[in-house]
Amino acid sequence: MAEHESLEFGKADFVLLDNVSMEEFMANLKLRFEKGRIYTYIGEVVVSVNPYRAMNIYGRDVIEQYKGRELYERPPHLFAIADAAYKAMKRRNKDTCIVISGESGAGKTEASKYIMQYIAAITNPNQRAEVERVKNMLLKSNCVLEAFGNAKTNRNDNSSRFGKYMDINFDFKGDPIGGHINNYLLEKSRVIFQQEGERSFHSFYQVNMCAPVFICIVSPSSLQSCINDGADFKAVADAMKVIGFTGDEIQTVYKILATILHLGNLTFGVDGDVTLIENTKLVSVIRELLSTKEENVEKALLYRTVATGRDVIEKQHTTQEANYGRDALAKAMYERLFCWIVSRINDIIEVRNYDAKIHGKNTVIGVLDIYGFEIFQNNSFEQFCINYCNEKLQQLFIQLVLKQEQDEYQREGIPWKHIDYFNNQIIVDLVEQQHKGIFAVLDEACMNVGKVTDEVFLQGLNTKLAKHAHYTSRKLSPTDKSLEFDRDFRIRHYAGDVVYSVVGFIDKNKDTLFQDFKRLLYNSSNSVLKAMWPEGKLRITEVTKRPLTAATLFKNSMISLVENLASKEPYYVRCIKPNDVKSPLLFEHERCRHQVEYLGLLENVRVRRAGFANRQTYPRFLQRYKMISEFTWPNHDLPSDKDAVKRLLQGCGFDHDVAYGKTKVFIRTPRTLFSLEEQRAEMV
Ligand code: ADP
Ligand code: MG
Repeated sequence: MAEHESLEFGKADFVLLDNVSMEEFMANLKLRFEKGRIYTYIGEVVVSVNPYRAMNIYGRDVIEQYKGRELYERPPHLFAIADAAYKAMKRRNKDTCIVISGESGAGKTEASKYIMQYIAAITNPNQRAEVERVKNMLLKSNCVLEAFGNAKTNRNDNSSRFGKYMDINFDFKGDPIGGHINNYLLEKSRVIFQQEGERSFHSFYQVNMCAPVFICIVSPSSLQSCINDGADFKAVADAMKVIGFTGDEIQTVYKILATILHLGNLTFGVDGDVTLIENTKLVSVIRELLSTKEENVEKALLYRTVATGRDVIEKQHTTQEANYGRDALAKAMYERLFCWIVSRINDIIEVRNYDAKIHGKNTVIGVLDIYGFEIFQNNSFEQFCINYCNEKLQQLFIQLVLKQEQDEYQREGIPWKHIDYFNNQIIVDLVEQQHKGIFAVLDEACMNVGKVTDEVFLQGLNTKLAKHAHYTSRKLSPTDKSLEFDRDFRIRHYAGDVVYSVVGFIDKNKDTLFQDFKRLLYNSSNSVLKAMWPEGKLRITEVTKRPLTAATLFKNSMISLVENLASKEPYYVRCIKPNDVKSPLLFEHERCRHQVEYLGLLENVRVRRAGFANRQTYPRFLQRYKMISEFTWPNHDLPSDKDAVKRLLQGCGFDHDVAYGKTKVFIRTPRTLFSLEEQRAEMV
C-alpha cells in the first residue's frame, strides 16, 4: 500500500479493492488514469496505462524519492519496480528480470527506457570511468536499435518491430559493467511491404534523406520522409560512432540500406522465353554499392544454380521466381544487417574486465520488451509466432507468480491454500509439441517431396488437430461465421480467439534465400559485408543440410528465453493502451477491459489476495507502526522484533488477520493495513 496518496486518486494497489470484480477493477483503473495516476500495483506487479502526454514524473527529484525505498512507501511507479529488482540483485545476490508486456502502443518500450535510465541514475556513485562508459553504451544502443528495428505503424509512430531482451551485468558494488542484447523475430516483411499509412523501418528514411550519395539516382518514390528523419539520422550516426562502429562499418550499413532501396525499384520482364531485368542501370548501382562484379549481380537475380546428381546447372528464373528472389534478398539483407548490428553492440558492451568476469560476483538484471498479443484484420505467420510468444510468457507468468508466492510462504513457514486459474499450457502444447503441434505439422508440410502448399499444411492441421478444444477450421466448423474462407483456421488463445489465414505460412517458414545470393554477398570485396554472409562460402554441391525453418528457430529462441527468465527473479510491468487515437483524455472502457481480461489481471489480484495482501519484515513493520502501540513506542523491551510485532497487533485486535513468518509478518486483508495506516496517520 502506497503512501502519500489519498483515496481521491483511487486505490494504489488493486489488492485493496473492496470486491475483486471487473467493474471495480475498471472503475479504479479509470479513476486513476483520469487523475493522472498512470501506475497502479497488484502486489509487486505494476499496471501502467499509456498517458499519451509528457508526464512530469521521471526527473532527477523523483528518482531520488524512490532510491532505496520499499515498494509501498511511495506512490506506484516504474522506478519502484526497478529499485526492487535492483535491491534484490544487490542485497540478495539474485539475478532478476523485468518483464514488460502489453499490446503495440501500450508503452512497453518507453517503460523499458525509463527503467534503464533509473538504473543508470542510481548506480556508480563513485563515477568510475569504465562504469560510465558501459552506462553510456547501454543507453546509446537504444537509439541505434530503434532506428533499425522500429517503424511507424497505424498503432504506434515508433513501433518496435522486434523483440528485445537486454541483460545488464553488475559487479559486486552493484555498478553496471556490461550487458548483452538478444533480439527476436524482426518483422522483415516490412522491408518489402507496408500497410496503408505505415512506413518501413526508420533507417531507410534517414539514409534517404541524409546520405543521398548512396542513393545515386532518383530516390525511391515510396520514401516520404518526415521532419525528424534528418535529425534522427545525425543522432544515430553519432551514436554508432560513440558505440564504436568503424567508418567502414557505418559506410557499409548505408550501402546495404541503399541497395535494399534500389532492389525495391528493380523490375523483371520477359523477351521470348528469356527473363530479363528491365532497369539495368540499377544493376550497376547495386554492383557498386555491394562491391561485386556486375555480371554476378545480374546472374544471381536471374538464375539459380542447382545440383542434379553430380551435375551443376544454371536454371533461369521465371519472372515470378525472380521477383521472389529479389524480395527474399532484400529481406534477408536487412535481417542480417540488423542481427549484425546487435552483435556488434554486444561485442562492445560485453563484460570486459577480466577481474569482474573471473573473480567478481556478476549478477544480472534482464529487461524484456517484447511484442504483445496481436489480433489484426488479417493474421498470418508473424501474428501466429507473436501470439505463441505471448502464450509462453503467460505460462511463465502463471508459474512464476504462483510459484513465487508459494516459495515465499514455504520459506517463511506459512500454510498455503491453492487457488485455481486457467492454465494455458494446453495452448502452448498445441503450438510447440513435437510431432503433433502446429509448428511440427508446418515443418512436415515444408519437407513434403510432392506438393508443398499452404493447403497441404492446412489439411495436416485438420487431420492431426480435429479434436483439439483450442483448434478449429472452416472444414471442421463449416457453419462458423468467423471462419470466412477455406484457408482460415482459428486458435482459441488464452487472450481470445484469433483467426489465421494459412496463406504464406509455407514460404515464410521455409524462408528460402537462394544460395546464389549468399555466394554473391560473400564474394564482395567489402570485408564488412562479406563477414555478414559466411555461409556464402559453400558451393552448391556442399550445401547439404536443410537450414532450420523460421518456426523451429523461433520456437527454440522462445524456449531458451523462457528458461532464462525462469531462472531469474521476475518483476512485471503490464502495459495498457487506453485508446486507438493516441489521446491523453480518452479511456475507452471496452478496449481497456479486454486488455485487463487477457493480461489475466483479475486472476492476478485474486491470487495475490488469496494469500496475503501485504508482507513486511519485522524491523520494517516496527519502524512504520511502532508509534501506535504503548508496547513498542518509543522502543520495545521484548526479546525480538517478531514478539514486538505480535504484541502490537494483539493490542490492536488484528492478531486473527495475520500470520507470523520467520522474518516477515503477513497481513491477510487490506482493511487491516488500512486501519494501521489510519492509526499511524492520527499519531504523526
Ligand atoms: P510499445 O513499445 O508498447 O509499442 P511505446 O513504448 O513505443 O509502445 O509507446 C508508444 C507511444 O506512447 C510513445 O511513443 C509515446 O508517445 C507514448 N507513451 C508511452 N509511454 C509513455 C509515458 N510513460 N509517458 C508519455 N508518453 C508515453
Ligand atoms: Mg515497443
